[in-house]
Amino acid sequence: VSAVDLCIAGASEILPFRGGDGPLVGPAFRDPEVIHDGALIVSDGKIEWVGETQGLERALAGRRPARRIDTPGRVVTPGFVDCHTHIPFARGREAEFEMRIEGKSYLEIAAAGGGILSSVRHFRETSTNDLVARGREHLTAMLRGGTTSVECKSGYGLSTEHELRALEVIRALQSGPSTLVATFLGAHAIPAEHRPDPDAYVDLVVEEMLPQVARQGIARFCDVFIEEGAFSLEQGRRILTAARDCGLLLKLHVDEFHSLGGATLAAELGAVSADHLDHVSDREMRALASAGVVAVLTPGVNTFLGTAPFAPARKLVDAGVPVALATDFNPGSCMCASMETILSLACTQLRLRPIEAIAAATRNAAHACGLGDRVGRLERGFDADILVMGVEDHRTIPYHFGTSHVELVIKGGKLVHA
Ligand SMILES: [Zn+2]
Repeated sequence: VSAVDLCIAGASEILPFRGGDGPLVGPAFRDPEVIHDGALIVSDGKIEWVGETQGLERALAGRRPARRIDTPGRVVTPGFVDCHTHIPFARGREAEFEMRIEGKSYLEIAAAGGGILSSVRHFRETSTNDLVARGREHLTAMLRGGTTSVECKSGYGLSTEHELRALEVIRALQSGPSTLVATFLGAHAIPAEHRPDPDAYVDLVVEEMLPQVARQGIARFCDVFIEEGAFSLEQGRRILTAARDCGLLLKLHVDEFHSLGGATLAAELGAVSADHLDHVSDREMRALASAGVVAVLTPGVNTFLGTAPFAPARKLVDAGVPVALATDFNPGSCMCASMETILSLACTQLRLRPIEAIAAATRNAAHACGLGDRVGRLERGFDADILVMGVEDHRTIPYHFGTSHVELVIKGGKLVHA
């Protein structure tokens, strides 16, 4: 019998998202369990028990918790998992934000040397120490907002030296409290020096970057931005096939602005996730569902860029595709690191119900970044990443938007923010 680090008792609701394997789909996604007057026990940094408060004493079996938190009138959820971010980046792009307000499109700004390429210039001229410091600031703010696990991508280096440096920054950030997953996104944009011959850059990614990334073991995933002006379907296939051969798991940015068939490619290659999906077709939804690819939806991007349509979330749910949510936190297309904000957008713009949105931001997001056996649920054996929300009803979290409801953040059984 282990010592009890912590117990929580008397929560108006606990949303455990427990039971079964894999992400929640179909009826399990539409109608997850809610425990009223809930309690839980944490030992050795893991969830030991979850149930109704009336069962707590029996579950404690005479042990005295080191800390007891009574949470009447509070909702308890798993920590948020932000399964798509572009940390590390060097700085914001406020001038471009203003240009877009004045009518220039994201792709027009990119074609004029702004966009991702301006972040590449900033990244290359910023020291590794400064990038780590900036990343830490973002992760600390995210942790306070309830995000306890974060997927981080390279992709502003776009040369072997700087892409490896981006992944080293992510590795340095692993020493902080958040659980991080590293993704190699060398194929984020064609860098300026390769614009005359994009295929030569694809060669560089495949022949030089990927083998070094794999050898150093500093990324778990490889991602490609398949889009007009970025990488073609064929270039994406080449990079992702090589990445898979190196033992990396796959993610794809697809269907953000144009449909190039990237969702079909994600299904074909057995990708873990396909992200954005604003223009996904019905046929592609069926392919994603049968391949078990998680759809990572990013309504913050549509909101920030003012682009329509939003991803067809309800159709994806009905097609049996597991749906996850992420911020896509980055300086160009979504300067928002708040998962609570994303929950509100998911409800109002994607028409997910509040409990579906929270499931998509926790358990399903964990599966979208390879952490599904460890975080995203309040279930025996899972990491004790727990949020106590200052609301009585979970629906208030997205409904009362623009305000953080996070009161306590517990990471691995330790109170990290109050
Ligand atoms: Zn992205």
